[in-house]
Amino acid sequence: MPTMNAFEATNLYFRRAAEIMSLGSRIETLLSTPLRMVKVAIPLEMDNGEVQTFIGYRVQHDNSRGPFKGGLRYHPHVDDEEVAALASLMTWKTAVVDIPFGGAKGGISVDPRTLSGAEIERLTRKFVDRIADVIGPNTDIPAPDVNTNAQVMAWIFDQYSKLRGHSPAVVTGKPVELYGSRGREAATGRGVIIATREVLKALGKSIEGSTMAIQGFGNVGTFAATVGVEMGAKVTAVSDITGAVRNKKGIDVEACIQHVRETGGVKDFPGAENFDGNEILYEDCDVLIPAALGGVINADNADKIRAPVVVEAANGPTTPVANDTLEAKGIVVVPDIYANAGGVTVSYFEWVQNLQQFRWEEINVNEHLEKRMVDSFDTLWRVKEKRGVSLRTAAFIIAIGRVGRARVLRGI
Ligand code: NAD
Repeated sequence: MPTMNAFEATNLYFRRAAEIMSLGSRIETLLSTPLRMVKVAIPLEMDNGEVQTFIGYRVQHDNSRGPFKGGLRYHPHVDDEEVAALASLMTWKTAVVDIPFGGAKGGISVDPRTLSGAEIERLTRKFVDRIADVIGPNTDIPAPDVNTNAQVMAWIFDQYSKLRGHSPAVVTGKPVELYGSRGREAATGRGVIIATREVLKALGKSIEGSTMAIQGFGNVGTFAATVGVEMGAKVTAVSDITGAVRNKKGIDVEACIQHVRETGGVKDFPGAENFDGNEILYEDCDVLIPAALGGVINADNADKIRAPVVVEAANGPTTPVANDTLEAKGIVVVPDIYANAGGVTVSYFEWVQNLQQFRWEEINVNEHLEKRMVDSFDTLWRVKEKRGVSLRTAAFIIAIGRVGRARVLRGI
């Protein structure tokens, strides 16, 4: 069976929830069609004097609940369809955690590894020139995504401010020294662990003493591991592009992060045994956290998953077919649109701080994140129980309900 792309998968989950809600085809079409799709050509003078033209995108899916919000990715796979799917996911994600934003996504079709730092900076600034009319602190607020980082956000802030005047709130995920928020870097991983703690509690279990396997040991994976240990869990296996390591007694996470810094990956971490990176998904543990790529749990391997709980830290790690297999096996899947929403939640706090011109302490950021994740989980669990649906369908029902009501109240 051909694998579904992100666009088809999102639409499928959307339609399942829409059907249960008896939305009707007109509202369904309204809520699944992006409001605006911008596609721009960015001619760039390369360091060697040649000119190359790149294609940039910004898709604004829905702004019923507030300004559009969503990341920018620099990747060769970026195209209209992928960006549109990710934009709609942002609409549902911001609605699930009830922050006053809509959904958008954008990016440039480029392999940034082939560009110099100076070329990436020029490309970013020209992209901002092209989309300046459709972004803004009250219109659409980009953020980092695949292959973009705090430095890229700093350039966006600077370029936009040159065009429109000082505007730190035009973009989030900025460096902490330049209007970024404390706690933003850790936010997604921290949110993933709060989600884990809450789902275990709802299942009558405890995060304390629970075991976790984490696929992907980058930003999200390392912070999930660190905060997991802080909350009393044992991280028994981690993997990244270099391989996987396990220690049934618990991996020393801090030492492992240091090992990655020194060697570039988790492989050969002393105090744990190496094993095949592809096998991490089948670990015997309480919680499996895919925190690397999309589509990793699919029709070929879903029946081999042994963890009773899967918390989706990555975007779209489970394909719809695999999702149904896991459900049939009684495995509880905490969906990405809730589980990894800690990042966009703290992006919202960054935006608030920029508008207030007042910097919060990290403890305030974490307290607000905690409350947002816990309250959202309570609603999620309640809807799941009441409707007798999966957590994913419950998340879509909540999100579609909130977006739909806002759209109707504002007037179609
Ligand atoms: P990252 O680039 O910092 O880390 C990715 C990690 O995955 C690296 O350790 C890499 O080695 C590993 N990896 C890559 N291919 C792998 C493979 N085949 N097998 C095992 N590991 C592999 O990225 P990140 O920011 O941590 O994002 C991870 C996931 O979380 C992505 O799906 C991203 O879309 C999602 N996400 C991130 C954020 C955020 O705030 N960073 C927010 C929401 C969702």
